[in-house]
Amino acid sequence: MSRFLSERFCELCAYVPGEQPKDMEYIKLNTNESPYPPAPELMKTIDEKLLGNLRLYSDPECKRLREAIARENKVNLENVFLGNGSDEVLSFIFMAFCDKGERVSYPDISYGFYSVYSELYGLSKNEVPLKDDFSIDPSDYMNLNSTVVIANPNAPTGLCLSLEDIEKIAKSNPDNIVAIDEAYVDFGGKSSIELTKKHDNLLVVQTFSKSRSLAGARLGFAIGNEKLIADLEKLRYSTNPFNVNSISLALGIAALEGREYYDKRIQDIIRTREGSAQEMKSMGFELTDSRGNFLFARHPKLGGERLYSELRSRGILVRHFKKPRIDDYVRITIGTERQMETMLYALKEMLSI
Ligand SMILES: *Cc1c(COP(=O)(O)O)cnc(C)c1O
Repeated sequence: MSRFLSERFCELCAYVPGEQPKDMEYIKLNTNESPYPPAPELMKTIDEKLLGNLRLYSDPECKRLREAIARENKVNLENVFLGNGSDEVLSFIFMAFCDKGERVSYPDISYGFYSVYSELYGLSKNEVPLKDDFSIDPSDYMNLNSTVVIANPNAPTGLCLSLEDIEKIAKSNPDNIVAIDEAYVDFGGKSSIELTKKHDNLLVVQTFSKSRSLAGARLGFAIGNEKLIADLEKLRYSTNPFNVNSISLALGIAALEGREYYDKRIQDIIRTREGSAQEMKSMGFELTDSRGNFLFARHPKLGGERLYSELRSRGILVRHFKKPRIDDYVRITIGTERQMETMLYALKEMLSI
């Protein structure tokens, strides 16, 4: 840290992304990327015309992709906010709707960026403990009088809240934003998008990074009341109106045309998840009932750190969080059937079974 860094950022703890080592070929099951390539519809998208047009700024309104997202989700263009990944969308939500020092509430075990953005924007963190079984108790979020952010399904547990509970949370905090982060919704969750039509304080955030195999393209969006979207747009135009590049805009439109392909890949991932979970249970692992593209597991004979490092030495990367309550666990992204077989074989070796 230099002596020039603004004092308000001195205590800030930056987000730590999952490792992307280059020393050898790993089976990468650590950052919840899709093991499958994007839809074939995308392969013809980047042509000479698109590349030639890179001399021009991208469309600041991102109109065609926002229209396509609106159509897909049965909302209007004015209900869609697009960002450079849903991380950026979340950043704008924290920036826009919380005053300095105000509380923001989210589960103590959840996506790491909620804490980072709270610190970045000088908000006060209200980290609400999950229940012992890692589920969210909806009654903890009633009448909080604070901004609420919940990942549904939650990460890294994969557990879901019902839409009835989300609606209750939105209703009981009418003067604050309730943001539902649906990064994993396509793998078995239920979307709250319909509820945004009834509740003008509810925002739903989704991403193209996971179920649409486009983590590197950086596309995320929020859906909500048009006034909320206009607020977010005001901040986006005050930060970077060209935040989404024209190649990603074109890829996003093509991805929405690849619905059939993605539905199949999502089914593949769900089938692999359920098969791998069964296999791990038979080895003595305890797992949450994950509805994401990952498993969250621990074994009575192997700690989380050891699971992580022994898998790593066998060329398999998984995620371990050195955090209270979940130190024993690893989060394993669902790979291809083949990758998971290799991972399961390594686990058996480690357990000598
Ligand atoms: C992966 C993830 C994101 C970020 O997705 P990007 O669109 O790639 O920025 C947001 N929230 C949760 C819970 C995630 O797991």
